Amino acid sequence: MGTALISGSLKVMHAFDFKKGKLHAEEVAVDRLASEFGTPLYVYSEATLLGHYRGLTGALAEVDATVAYAVKANSNLAVLGTLARAGSAFDIVSGGELFRVVQAGGEAARCTFAGVGKTEEEIGFALDQGIYAFVAESEAELRFIDQVAARRKVRAPVAVRVNPDVDAGTHHKITTGTYENKFGIAFEEIEELYGRAAKLKHLRLRGVHMHIGSQITAVGPFRAALKKMVPLVSRLRDRFGLEFFDIGGGLGIVYDPALASGKESWWEGRSRRPLTPEDYAKAVVPLVRPLGMKILIEPGRFIAGNAGILVARVLYVKKTARKNFVIVDAAMNDLIRPAFYEAYHEIVPVGRAGPRRTVKTDVVGPVCESGDVFCKDRLLPELRTGDLIAFLSAGAYGFTMASNYNTRPRPAEVLVSGKKVLLARRRESLQDLVRGEATA
Ligand SMILES: *Cc1c(COP(=O)(O)O)cnc(C)c1O
Repeated sequence: MGTALISGSLKVMHAFDFKKGKLHAEEVAVDRLASEFGTPLYVYSEATLLGHYRGLTGALAEVDATVAYAVKANSNLAVLGTLARAGSAFDIVSGGELFRVVQAGGEAARCTFAGVGKTEEEIGFALDQGIYAFVAESEAELRFIDQVAARRKVRAPVAVRVNPDVDAGTHHKITTGTYENKFGIAFEEIEELYGRAAKLKHLRLRGVHMHIGSQITAVGPFRAALKKMVPLVSRLRDRFGLEFFDIGGGLGIVYDPALASGKESWWEGRSRRPLTPEDYAKAVVPLVRPLGMKILIEPGRFIAGNAGILVARVLYVKKTARKNFVIVDAAMNDLIRPAFYEAYHEIVPVGRAGPRRTVKTDVVGPVCESGDVFCKDRLLPELRTGDLIAFLSAGAYGFTMASNYNTRPRPAEVLVSGKKVLLARRRESLQDLVRGEATA
């Protein structure tokens, strides 16, 4: 265990740890949660969520910084409510996410709304709710927001997302800041675009935005993008009276503790130790402070990633001439990151029932896809039918990317705080799955 769960700041407590041979979420034994709520089960730790949120706000105290949690990482109402009460703002990418923030008790006035394909309905809803700013990703969208605002006789607060053309050095499916990506508007075109947008009567140019990618574990890409952006942002601030600079999210976490300890080499140029809020602030603050603007950051994974685990039960063990398959009751529909991004999740047995030898294991789910594999040939303690295992660092892009593929109900979610357990979302029933369908 150890560093994998510290995730960033060394000041953040271990929320998932072994006590007397049993994995605990804060003060609660995970096997107890599994018997009470069934498996597969997402378990979140409130202390870890808040620890990361506070670690970041604390590290950025030297600038007028707002942490806008990226809702898409984990949008459970209990998670959003916890962060809202701690003072978090929110980064949303759909009308649905705005609805969730409001339902959870968050303020629309503290939401920024990004995304390349906002619909008229979503723009209208966001205007009616009074969001802080739209982050427009094309000129066509800016003109459309202006029209929707005109019909309502209001001015829409906007920022434009700048694509700084900096490679974040992350997985190709989560790189967003190069000209190969659909996101934002090319750096060279921004100033003229703001000039044209300033003439649209129902827009209020409020800020400027960038977000270069996700799971960035070194400060280099952030620094490179900011060095390029700051002179532009300074000119835009002077010409158009902008109030904020949103520098995006993308702060990475360590999924594999072997990498964090430097036992194995990873790929070139990547940091092997966790990115801490202090590392990030040290790189970012000197570059943005001279602007004297309100700074927004939009971390999703960094706040929620290590604040959650997915618990599963072993159904069968199937040994073949070549392989040792452990078939569990969680699958790619519950946690798609390994199948989608070739992502690594640390897997630990929930109970340490006596000494067991370690064996090369493929942990797989029941879904009818060859891609439904959580790990291949990984050395794990020998697992048996009925054992519980936990996939660590599953709090971000876990449940929010879950689907009902193979007509599998999505897992329950629980939020633990000290000894307290909240059923944050009950397990879906089969009836839930067919609600809204018609028979022909
Ligand atoms: C997804 C997203 C984020 C959050 O990314 P993380 O890697 O989870 O920090 C922030 N901003 C925007 C615009 C996004 O689309």
